[in-house]
Amino acid sequence: MSFRSFEEILSKCKEQDKPFWRVILEDDMEERLVSEEESFEKMKHLYMSMKGADIAYDEGLKSTSGLVGGDGARISRAVSEGKTLGGPFIGEVMSKALKMGESNACMKKIVAAPTGGACGVIPAVLLTYEEQFGAFLQQMIEAMYVAAGVGQVIAVRAFISGAAGGCQAEIGSASAMAAGALTYLNGGDGESIAHSAAMSLKNLMGLVCDTVGGLVEIPCVKRNVGGAVIAIASADMAVAGIRSQIPPDEVIDAMREVGESLPRTLRETGEGGLAATPTGREIMNRLMK
Ligand code: SF4
Repeated sequence: MSFRSFEEILSKCKEQDKPFWRVILEDDMEERLVSEEESFEKMKHLYMSMKGADIAYDEGLKSTSGLVGGDGARISRAVSEGKTLGGPFIGEVMSKALKMGESNACMKKIVAAPTGGACGVIPAVLLTYEEQFGAFLQQMIEAMYVAAGVGQVIAVRAFISGAAGGCQAEIGSASAMAAGALTYLNGGDGESIAHSAAMSLKNLMGLVCDTVGGLVEIPCVKRNVGGAVIAIASADMAVAGIRSQIPPDEVIDAMREVGESLPRTLRETGEGGLAATPTGREIMNRLMK
């Protein structure tokens, strides 16, 4: 990855008069020595795999702990019965985010985006957008490049794993990637993409990784919903012209600093936060038996 900052991506977009997604696609071609078609096919394969994983959801499955499963279908039913407040778009996004997180917890095939724990955020917003706004596949793959570009800058500048930087690095990064992709789909330019990503990260900064029983189940699955909904709000703010007063690259740097100062117990050790509550410990003890 040749880009270390949004600033570099945006200046390349400006210099070469190219959209954000194309700059990332060309960077991939250069990095992996592949043709445009090969790069595009790979990205398409990832997107289609997300779609396949969404379709393959099985509401009857239960995770190792027995505590995760069926919630994606529950919210779907509530949406179709008119019981939810968020409307059909947010309702479906929530449902897809839960379904993918549950599929991961139930060991089904998913696309780690950027990680398994945060695998529901990006497909939730992109697949729902395609379904409800009738977008072309080409646009969706372009949005995937935007998400990849955002994720790459975060990975180079900070981290994308809970063990390194807490959940802000997983759900936060996924949310930033999803926000950038949605902003692009909704007509935002490169600057709006960077700011939507920054606003997502800011909203999830400090989020700790506190897996109950050390399993990627609680609180991971439901946090995918939060990441997806924050992505929508951030994309909407960016398209409305709202900007992060702290520049996007500085937001990522702050996220890195916060992650580095998190104690070990809050970085995927399953020892702090929710994992350390009486119920969290009880679940852990039950699993050990
Ligand atoms: S709590 Fe930890 S394992 Fe779960 S999604 Fe967040 S970072 Fe990943």
